[in-house]
Amino acid sequence: MVEFKNVSVTYSSGVDALNHVNLKINDGDFAFVVGSSGAGKSTLIKLILKEIDATDGDVMVNGFNLTKLRRRKIPALRRTIGVVFQDFRLIPTMTVYENVAFVLRVIDAPAKYIRSRVPYVISLVGLQEKAKSYPTELSGGEQQRVALARALVNDPQLIIADEPTGNIDPALSYEIVDLLKSINECGTTVLMVTHEHDLVRYFGGRIININKGNIAFDEVIGGSNTDEG
Ligand code: ADP
Repeated sequence: MVEFKNVSVTYSSGVDALNHVNLKINDGDFAFVVGSSGAGKSTLIKLILKEIDATDGDVMVNGFNLTKLRRRKIPALRRTIGVVFQDFRLIPTMTVYENVAFVLRVIDAPAKYIRSRVPYVISLVGLQEKAKSYPTELSGGEQQRVALARALVNDPQLIIADEPTGNIDPALSYEIVDLLKSINECGTTVLMVTHEHDLVRYFGGRIININKGNIAFDEVIGGSNTDEG
């Protein structure tokens, strides 16, 4: 669960990036976050990950009150969140399998668990045939699916996808959102930041539109994929 109560962020430069934002994303929700460049989308994501602190107001994420959260507890917060970035951020010298397993190795997960969990998550994103490939041997869409497997492997409560389709073929963008939707149907909350209006129109659902640091619109719309006829 993500809740913003009257949250404002003013950067040291004096820029007001968010103004008194109230927002609630319940467990199991899927929401698109849209808005033009400079609207405040990244600021919102950075607050959720506690990369920055609110100047005012309270941010609650997966049971953590971020205003009060001690620095040494930040890793525990971040373990409840899987993040997917526009630029994939895979480790080029590691295979698909190793890229995904690495996440569990750094948190000292048992080897037996890693051996069963990693292939399972790789198959969830449809890449079982590519487990031994290196990132450079994969298409952009496939690399993003590896990034998604990596975000999922630790079974997070929340997936944040920050422009996940920004660097991939538009036709493959739909597959990535389909995958995020199926992950969401299994119970994981998904927050996806995007510029791509076509995708949002196609899938519909909850759309949170940020404009100049304010929530301009937060509603559920029907998608064209579910239109009759
Ligand atoms: P978006 O992700 O929607 O493009 P951002 O959250 O990055 O928007 O930015 C919101 C506003 O805050 C913009 O005016 C931007 O220039 C400003 N901003 C973002 N990061 C910083 C920073 N570290 N220092 C000062 N201003 C910033």
